[in-house]
Amino acid sequence: MSPKKQRPPRQAMPARPAEERRVIFDEVALGYRLELAQLEASRCLQCKRATCIEGCPVQVRIPDFILALREGDMWGAVEALKDKNSLPAICGRVCPQETQCEEACILSKRGEPVAIGRLERFVADWERQQGMRIPEVAPPTGKHVCIVGSGPAGLTAAGDLAKLGHKVTVLESLHLPGGVLMYGIPEFRLPKDVVQAELGYLEILDVEIRCNAVVGKLFTLSELAEAYDAVFLGTGAGLPMMMRIPGENLNGVYSANELLTRTNLMKGYLFPEWDTPVKVGDKVAVVGAGNVAMDAARCSLRLGADEVHIVYRRSRAEVPARAEEVEHAEEEGIVFDFLTNPVEVLSDGDGWVGGIKCIRMELGEPDASGRRRPIPIEGSEFAMDMDTVVMALGTRPNPLVFADAPDLDRTRWGTVVADEATGRTLMERIWAGGDIVTGAATVISAMGAGRTAATDIDRYLAEPGQPWEVPPSSEA
Ligand code: FAD
Ligand code: SF4
Repeated sequence: MSPKKQRPPRQAMPARPAEERRVIFDEVALGYRLELAQLEASRCLQCKRATCIEGCPVQVRIPDFILALREGDMWGAVEALKDKNSLPAICGRVCPQETQCEEACILSKRGEPVAIGRLERFVADWERQQGMRIPEVAPPTGKHVCIVGSGPAGLTAAGDLAKLGHKVTVLESLHLPGGVLMYGIPEFRLPKDVVQAELGYLEILDVEIRCNAVVGKLFTLSELAEAYDAVFLGTGAGLPMMMRIPGENLNGVYSANELLTRTNLMKGYLFPEWDTPVKVGDKVAVVGAGNVAMDAARCSLRLGADEVHIVYRRSRAEVPARAEEVEHAEEEGIVFDFLTNPVEVLSDGDGWVGGIKCIRMELGEPDASGRRRPIPIEGSEFAMDMDTVVMALGTRPNPLVFADAPDLDRTRWGTVVADEATGRTLMERIWAGGDIVTGAATVISAMGAGRTAATDIDRYLAEPGQPWEVPPSSEA
């Protein structure tokens, strides 16, 4: 038998059945057991030129951690994995692996790639069950760094800097730290105890986290730059965009951010146990087809909606959400209306949503995003009966944080200009990274940016008095 024939197929990850999970917020994907994980690990070819590493935005040592797992050296697997990725239990769950490491896996050319994300999750969950090991911490440097925002960019920068011996204070505007990991991505996709464990790791490192601290209101960036030796800005892109169509101010229209924050952070799904209900109607239309849209649609279903539609102006081929989320949404009964775009939110005559008027679309040539441009088909308008509309059209950085920061260069999209290689902004001793620089992106790219900035901050603090070299502006 040829070696190809001997290789087992890609191992499916056990998941809760769709009928059971569509009404509860418990995690959908259940993870591998050890035997299944080792069987999947046995599929890895241990390529000399590991293209999967090139596909990962932070270059996780993928073949090394998979080999250690296969050989039963679990701590070796943890060490290889965490060498480049400080939040593997999170990335294993939410990275779009199919367009990153797994797309680059050589096996994907001949069939199915190694399930790298599932293995990453397995190793990270195993570590959590053992209890986190206390990391090695460098002697105190006497320097104090302020991190603004506690999403993956800020958390990664905080952890790295604390390990290097710097005192770290994180300022977070919400009442709980974690950023999108806590307020955006729902429990059924990313259980909050997984996020809490990562926050516990920062506690071990003695990182101070101050919640309810809105930078731009309580302190300005200029004040922080005076008070601390370095400041990292990782406030994300939490300002939702709306369609600007008639009827958008009717009751029953949400931004996805509001719906998800009420559901996840404020525990609306636990009403009446928690005194913070969130109302969705029987028929919900979610406009957009990214991860945020999938989360909003699947939350709406779990909050009691009878019928939930994803309304998307392009076709299935252009859907930007993770493949697994789309599959799970379909299995749960979410209806996909492709090549459809709302042009008006209709009233029920009493100030509430009564429906949406849509137009059919067709695809033209690719636009600047590389995806085919949707074009309205004249005269194809039709109405859909709805009582809740959720706009999931993308987000921008919230400008609140920029109060009294005149030197901070920003693009026309409201993102901060920062040097890709260092994270430095135009404002002296202020670094930035994550969604505030890239616009809405991914957890792993935000983490990578936090790590890049932490490395540069450490370098800068080690040589006091060096000139502040500014990046060239990327504003067109
Ligand atoms: P954030 O995670 O946004 O954190 C920023 C933090 O800064 C927040 O806690 C915010 O409260 C705080 N802050 C903001 N302003 C201030 C201020 N003025 N003062 C103090 N604090 C402030 N990515 C994936 O890779 N896979 C997914 O499956 C995925 N799903 C997603 C689902 C949803 C619903 C959303 C919204 C995003 C999703 N993303 C996903 C994107 C990913 O979560 C983000 O790219 C990532 O969280 C960005 O990290 P960040 O640290 O830059 O910012
Ligand atoms: Fe793949 Fe994400 Fe892990 Fe990198 S961090 S190996 S992209 S799952």
